[in-house]
Amino acid sequence: MADPCCALCGATDTLGPFSPAGAPAGLPAEARSLPCCGACRAQLDGGVALDADHWRCLQSSAWSAEPAVQVVAWRILGRLDAAWASELRAQLWLEPEVAAWAEAEAAEAPDPAARVLDANGAQLQDGDSVVIIKDLDVRGAGFVAKRGTVVKGIRLGDDPTHVEGKVNGTAIFLKTAFLRRS
Ligand SMILES: [Zn+2]
Repeated sequence: MADPCCALCGATDTLGPFSPAGAPAGLPAEARSLPCCGACRAQLDGGVALDADHWRCLQSSAWSAEPAVQVVAWRILGRLDAAWASELRAQLWLEPEVAAWAEAEAAEAPDPAARVLDANGAQLQDGDSVVIIKDLDVRGAGFVAKRGTVVKGIRLGDDPTHVEGKVNGTAIFLKTAFLRRS
C-alpha cells in the first residue's frame, strides 16, 4: 500500500479528511471524504484565497476515480480564473450523481442572517462584553437582570437571537435585542 498522501496535490504532511459538502444521502462514509493536506484544506475552506499555481496539481488528480476527489476538482477548477482550468474542467466527465453532488455547492455558503447582532446592529462574537439596556425579568432564575449590567465573556449558541452569559453568577440566555456591545 502506498504511503498516505493528499488526494489532490500529493503532499504527505498535515493530512486530514476533507468532506465536500452536499454528498448524496446513502453514499458510504468512506466515499464522502478524501485525504487532504493542510495547504489544500485551507483553500477549500475559503479561509485562504485560491492559489492557481498550487491547483495545477489537479491536472493529474482531477482524473481520480474517487467521486469525492472529482467533486472537489470540478468545484475548484470552476473557481479558478485561468484558461487551463476551464479547459480541463470541460474535459472532465462526471457520473450524473457525482455531477449533482459537485453542483450542490451553492448551499454551502454561510447564511448572513445567522450573524449575531446587538441592539445597534453591531456584530457580537464569543467572549465579547455586553451591557444590558433594559431591565430583564429572568424567568426561572427569580431575579431581574438590571439595565446597565455588564455581562462579560458571552457565548454564542445556535440561536442568533440569543447569547449566553452570566448574570449574578447564573448562566442565562439574553435576547440580543436588549444588549449593546461594550
Ligand atoms: Zn494537498
